[in-house]
Amino acid sequence: MGHDVLNAEPGAPTVGFVSLGCPKALTDSELILTQLSAEGYKTSKSYAGADIVIVNTCGFIDDAVKESLDAIGQALDENGKVIVTGCLGAKTGDDGRPLVQTVHPKVLAVTGPHATQEVMDAVHRHLPKPHDPFVDLVPEVRDQFRGSAGIKLTPRHYAYLKISEGCNHRCTFCIIPSLRGDLVSRPVGDVLNEARALLESGVKELLIISQDTSAYGVDVKYRTGFWDGKPVKTRFFDLCEQLGQLAQPYGAWVRLHYVYPYPHVDEVLPLMAQGLILPYLDVPFQHAHPDVLKRMRRPASAERNLERLQTWRSICPELVVRSTFIAGFPGESDAEFEALLAFMREAQIDRAGCFAYSPVQGAAANSLPGAVPDSVREERRARFMAVAEEVSVAQLARRVGAQMQVLVDSAPGLGRKGAVGRSYADAPEIDGQVRLLPPQKISRTLRAGDFVQARVVQVDGHDLIAQPI
Ligand code: SF4
Repeated sequence: MGHDVLNAEPGAPTVGFVSLGCPKALTDSELILTQLSAEGYKTSKSYAGADIVIVNTCGFIDDAVKESLDAIGQALDENGKVIVTGCLGAKTGDDGRPLVQTVHPKVLAVTGPHATQEVMDAVHRHLPKPHDPFVDLVPEVRDQFRGSAGIKLTPRHYAYLKISEGCNHRCTFCIIPSLRGDLVSRPVGDVLNEARALLESGVKELLIISQDTSAYGVDVKYRTGFWDGKPVKTRFFDLCEQLGQLAQPYGAWVRLHYVYPYPHVDEVLPLMAQGLILPYLDVPFQHAHPDVLKRMRRPASAERNLERLQTWRSICPELVVRSTFIAGFPGESDAEFEALLAFMREAQIDRAGCFAYSPVQGAAANSLPGAVPDSVREERRARFMAVAEEVSVAQLARRVGAQMQVLVDSAPGLGRKGAVGRSYADAPEIDGQVRLLPPQKISRTLRAGDFVQARVVQVDGHDLIAQPI
């Protein structure tokens, strides 16, 4: 299942979870646990050592009400910080007041069933998780989504869907395998059930994450699972195909993160060309020179990445590629760094981020010879970003005049003064945005979670400015 306390890094805040009730409540529990784990919280099935406890309750029959109220009382006694969700949360007592608060006024928050987002908001309020760029899969949220007290309020219309835990690679700069162990793929039926529940709850964009999305199912030898009464293989392509088909009737987007440039990834490009999956790939290349990639022990380091990108673009010309790179890795020579810049220019990576190499405690790369001086690492990072910017701006400039579908992320005042959204080319938090001008028709309103068609009128840095049509 991958929600185990062992899968999170030490020091991460821990959420204890008590799940009572029927199979529907269990689905809710799964959704909450997966979001918690996607955001890097530790989860545990006991109160011991937990920083906060969530009790998912049942309110169907009197016995269940009593069991739930007792469980809340016990959690309050043993832990003190308790969030209540589930059917009992929606129940009122004889006096018409919410039952849970009447009996247990000390609970921090109460929601009804199917309220993953409200539960997550309550967790963020009472137990914020510090962002760790080295181990977190989910990016740090930008200011626009923070509440007044700096509280993270993930917009309700996108959700992270974690498909596996851990990683079979041993990149020398990374400590994730030692923290989280080898790859454990979630059963394909569980992932698809969760996707469906998210879509049914109104999510418009599923962000598929894991440490190595393209390796999905390797650990279980691509075992055939079952979903909706039919066999489905635990395999990257099959999962993408099912997710795309599932999202289509909802008009929702499916976006793939952390995909390595393996040959089998070619198979999903037709799904993108058909519009089932967004033509967007987040491929963490980290470097381009084969010797540096070898010293990094990167997955797919022997692949011909430029050729692979060309193949992908020939199958799906709209493809947008985002990537991250490391400048100044131990032993990186001037020539190796120049090769990275040349790759960047030639590969036309639409969106790129770059870190100056910095040792992570416990990583094997720390003992590699040839440490690059800090000032050189930083200077290379800046040079890399200048090239990345050139490439990105040129790519964006080609969009002026084009019509794009935009998912609105925020639209204060019903968007009458404009709104902020993203196109398929922008993942939340890490890429650019599409700034929407006020709609020309005065009666037209915009809301977060709406899809709108808009014509791009201008490029502004990493963002586009567009007019809703
Ligand atoms: S692929 Fe490499 S960088 Fe990514 S989690 Fe695995 S070991 Fe770490």
